[in-house]
Amino acid sequence: MKKLVLASGNAGKLREFGQLLARFDFEVLPQAVFNVPEAEEPHITFVENALAKARHAAQLTGLPALADDSGLCVTALGGAPGVYSAHYAGEPRSDQRNNARLLADLAGIADRRAHYVAVLVLLRSAADPQPLIAQGEWHGEIIDTPRGAGGFGYDPCFLIPDAGMTAAELPHEEKNRRSHRGQALARLIEHLRIGM
Ligand code: IMP
Repeated sequence: MKKLVLASGNAGKLREFGQLLARFDFEVLPQAVFNVPEAEEPHITFVENALAKARHAAQLTGLPALADDSGLCVTALGGAPGVYSAHYAGEPRSDQRNNARLLADLAGIADRRAHYVAVLVLLRSAADPQPLIAQGEWHGEIIDTPRGAGGFGYDPCFLIPDAGMTAAELPHEEKNRRSHRGQALARLIEHLRIGM
């Protein structure tokens, strides 16, 4: 199997990516195994941050690297919190305070449209001039009263109108199938099928 380093320490992502990429003969290893520290994410777009993380991991390990970046973009807020989703309400990071800030920002605003974005970047080497890039979007609406105990982040406030449920109320597999990350991963796999 070819080794692939994942530029993340998230156990859920490792399991999901590991299972899906095994059929392309990749063994997915977390960057911590190689003592790679977390990379800076200084950019204002998801794709630039994902690329920076993948390149950092590829440079320090000499292996192909996969990174993802994701967040919530709210239409009436000009795409905020965007790449700042994880620490929208400052440090230390708190989902509860992030959601409270989001609802405060949207107070009195009728346009509740929002979408999650996920970008995956796969580099065959640190100097790869043609990264594989796959993006996914998941559209919904922000509601004022959080609902549901599943998911994480903004999920209790993110209503999927056709399901009549928030992302935190959807069964886990259903969320994975519909989500921005699920869609990005499906597209990455399509790229891999075509040629790698
Ligand atoms: P990361 O790309 O995994 O670091 O996620 C960045 C931030 O975006 C998270 O901390 C959440 O605030 C938000 N986010 C990304 N994906 C989701 C999701 O599926 N549900 C809820 N929040 C999410």
